[in-house]
Amino acid sequence: MTAREAGYAVEPQPAATLPVAGSDLVFPVHRVYCVGRNYAAHSIEMGGNPDREAPFFFQKNPDNLDTGGSFPYPSASSDVHHEIELLVALKSGGVDIPVAGALACVYGYGVVLDMTRRDLQAKAKELARPWETAKAFDHSAPCTPIVAADRIGHRSEGAIWLDINGERRQTGDLNQMIWKVPEMISYLSGLFCLKAGDVILSGTPSGVGAVQRGDLMHGHIDGIGDLDVRVI
Ligand code: MN
Repeated sequence: MTAREAGYAVEPQPAATLPVAGSDLVFPVHRVYCVGRNYAAHSIEMGGNPDREAPFFFQKNPDNLDTGGSFPYPSASSDVHHEIELLVALKSGGVDIPVAGALACVYGYGVVLDMTRRDLQAKAKELARPWETAKAFDHSAPCTPIVAADRIGHRSEGAIWLDINGERRQTGDLNQMIWKVPEMISYLSGLFCLKAGDVILSGTPSGVGAVQRGDLMHGHIDGIGDLDVRVI
């Protein structure tokens, strides 16, 4: 059947999905929300304030998530940074979700890289322009399959780190997040109607830096898994 016969004016793009680990199910991605500066040490390295200010968010596109294991070095940048992060996948949502009820919205977790065209982001900051070109570009969120919370429970602590070519570059612990997972869900739900399929990238510990073509990025979060991504 052609797109037109199916009632579409143009060819529809396939829905963005992520594999679910240990399952033949896929997780249908609705939106991708990202938290900025959620670890004090990273906030300081970016010139910010380590205190508990209100969280801020930006978005990536659902099809920026990529479990293919490679990261094509993007055009229009010569300073692309790695940011290793905890991915939170929601199974339900709503508005004004109380902190105490927020974990009930979580389907599972993953390991994700918030790849960033830092030079474009610096320019955007300088000109007070939005961040999409720096953050929401194609293949900008390499990640693992989703691991269901039914299998591993909820993660509020555990080591998170990233190696480049076997050398440790980023280290932290989930317990260092300024805004914890239930708090970020609750806060986000005051700004947006959260839905099943929404994904949250929860911010990166310190040690961000540039990658080069050929680099092997190896990310890890205790109890969730490992992510290997080659920069090509
Ligand atoms: Mn980030």
